[in-house]
Amino acid sequence: MQCLRCRFEDTRVIDTRLGGDGFSIKRRRVCNSCGFRFSTLETPVREEITVEKRDGRIEEFDRQKIFTSLRAALKKGDHQRERMETLVNNVVARLLNGGRKRLTSAEIGTVVLDVLKNFDELAYLRYLTVHQSFINLEDFKAQILRNETNT
Ligand SMILES: [Zn+2]
Repeated sequence: MQCLRCRFEDTRVIDTRLGGDGFSIKRRRVCNSCGFRFSTLETPVREEITVEKRDGRIEEFDRQKIFTSLRAALKKGDHQRERMETLVNNVVARLLNGGRKRLTSAEIGTVVLDVLKNFDELAYLRYLTVHQSFINLEDFKAQILRNETNT
C-alpha cells in the first residue's frame, strides 16, 4: 500500500491486531521512505451463505458466532488473537470451499470440530461437550476417517 504522505509504494506492516468485533483486522504501517505511520482496517466481505438451524429456521451465516464458540472452547486468554483469527479463517475457508449456499448448523459444527482437533485437544473436547447434542457424531467420525485416508 502507498504511503499516505509521500506516495512511496513500499510501506511495511509493523503491527497487526484483530478488531474488538473479532472479524476485522487493524494493521499499523510505516513508510519505508519518509517514516510516516498510519493504520488500515480490513473487514471481510459478507459471505452469501445461509444456515439451516436444527429447528428448520434459516439464518444468515454469521462469522461472529464461529468466533464466539471457538473462543468459548479455547477459553479467554489461552490463545493469541492472531491465532484465533487464523482458526476462524480456516473454518470459514473450509465452509466456503464447498461452494454451497446453504449449510446446516451441524455441518458447521463438524468443520469447527475438525479444525479444533488439529489445533488444541482440550478445546476440541470442550467444544464437543457443548455441541455434541446437535452434531451427528457418525458423520463426524466418517469425516475424520476420510481425512485420515486422504493424508
Ligand atoms: Zn512516505
